[in-house]
Amino acid sequence: MTATNHFLIGVSISLVVKQPLLALPLAFISHLVADALPHFGGKLPLSTLRNVWIFDAVILSTVLLATWKYFGFFSVLTGFVATSPDLVWVYKFVFQEKLGQLPPKPKTGFNSLHARIQKYEFIKNWPFEFVYVVIFSLFIFKLYS
Ligand SMILES: [Zn+2]
Repeated sequence: MTATNHFLIGVSISLVVKQPLLALPLAFISHLVADALPHFGGKLPLSTLRNVWIFDAVILSTVLLATWKYFGFFSVLTGFVATSPDLVWVYKFVFQEKLGQLPPKPKTGFNSLHARIQKYEFIKNWPFEFVYVVIFSLFIFKLYS
């Protein structure tokens, strides 16, 4: 799932669950639930992957700035926690696999679980990402207005 959608889910949680001791673990768990839903992903050529990441980063940056402006630090933090499990993939890809130059290493522990739950991650599932953006943006907008 895109970082933008994980972040929007986290922000939604922060707006419903105001208690940080509950909201932050829920945000982390939401990542795993969201990754179990149909979403975009899979083996892509490096150039395509780079373009998807840049597009996602631009949208995420915009969403992050708007979240900071309208909802503040707690919502940004909750969004970050909801997105954070994927930082491990970035770390592995950049530092262990040298930007795709080396083959992926076997996944262990949490990474193994994180990979196994993504049974509905396919390239053809890209429209789901737009559906999630619309649903959670409308949800946030509804709570704000
Ligand atoms: Zn993930």
